[in-house]
Amino acid sequence: MDYRSYFKQYPDKNGRYGEYGGAILPPELVPVFKEITEAYNAICHSAQFINELRRIRKEFQGRPTPVYHCDRLSRKLKTGCQIYLKREDLNHTGAHKLNHCMGEGLLAKFMGKKKLIAETGAGQHGVALATAAAYFGLKCDIYMGEVDIAKQAPNVTRMKILGANVVPVTHGLKTLKEAVDAAFDAYLKEYKDAIYCIGSALGPHPFPQMVRDFQMCVGLEAREQFLEMTGIFPDVVCACVGGGSNSAGMFAAFLNDPVEICGVEPLGRGPRTGDHAASMAYGKRGILHGFESIILQEEDGSPSPVYSIASGLDYPGVGPEHAFWRDLGRVNYVTASDEEAIDAFFKLSRYEGIIPALESAHAVAYAMRRAKEMHSGAILVNCSGRGDKDVDYVVEHYGYGEQFMFKD
Ligand SMILES: *Cc1c(COP(=O)(O)O)cnc(C)c1O
Repeated sequence: MDYRSYFKQYPDKNGRYGEYGGAILPPELVPVFKEITEAYNAICHSAQFINELRRIRKEFQGRPTPVYHCDRLSRKLKTGCQIYLKREDLNHTGAHKLNHCMGEGLLAKFMGKKKLIAETGAGQHGVALATAAAYFGLKCDIYMGEVDIAKQAPNVTRMKILGANVVPVTHGLKTLKEAVDAAFDAYLKEYKDAIYCIGSALGPHPFPQMVRDFQMCVGLEAREQFLEMTGIFPDVVCACVGGGSNSAGMFAAFLNDPVEICGVEPLGRGPRTGDHAASMAYGKRGILHGFESIILQEEDGSPSPVYSIASGLDYPGVGPEHAFWRDLGRVNYVTASDEEAIDAFFKLSRYEGIIPALESAHAVAYAMRRAKEMHSGAILVNCSGRGDKDVDYVVEHYGYGEQFMFKD
């Protein structure tokens, strides 16, 4: 397939990527999402919007983030293959999520909305959105399960310092799923003044497209930077896949290049149901949160319980464009376990001085595994975020990681 016209063809006018995607909504929300789609289609071609977003990326976020050659880690692996990182951990707030939150905030501003609404699980999306709300002078309501509020105290504090209103959700299991329901309910009442900001490249159309577009700065920068550094393309590009935003932004820029693309899903403690969140490996077609994709589901079609050591990856589905890329054969989806991610977390910290987020460590783990098989060439990994948020948990369970160091 020729990918030069890909972005003109997909998503189609119904927000579909082949058989995936769409906007499967309660009737009241159909006109609301139509309004967002029309606004986005208008502004994504507006020079004013594009220039404003460029300025924000440069002056507020600190973009472009660098591409970095992991020379020491590559040598330690005793392979001729070289690992490179796209340093999204150096993006303001420490991860790629701000890339789409600033875009969503700017869209809200252009649409004359006064408030941003979202749910959050581990709190990473909440913090990024609260940051965008503070920047644009918008109100911000973040729905969060009571259980998660207790578990993620530092992120709750951050959101409150940034001026967001953290709304505890007290029904059901009091975690992410209930928070999504509560945020949708609130949006139904407040859509005239507010916009619902989805935290990954998923949800009803136009969010998968919009979030991918806002994240594409990652891939476009990395492609240009890598070509400038080395004069050639990397052999492999990889990124971790939770809902699929950092990976979509990275992959979209390389679709038409002679590059193998790999999405890395969390295998958790292994293939047993409930112990992983590897949707592509073990899921099947289904509908979740207003879109059609590959979903981990029970016999009755309800979403399966999921788990990963990286809380940003434990979602029982994947953005619809990823399902499409897999069917097209353009992207391979692979897995890395908790144990492999921890190993990569310590090795990247100790041999390169970069503490990655546990999410990103999944992509680094896969790159290390591949590098040992490849002997030559280069792998470009998206380091989606920094690991400060994970250090207490990791040290409590694995100490300082001596057992993961190379012996010579
Ligand atoms: C949230 C998060 C992810 C997973 O989200 P995607 O939408 O799949 O990118 C990955 N890395 C970090 C650092 C995160 O915070």
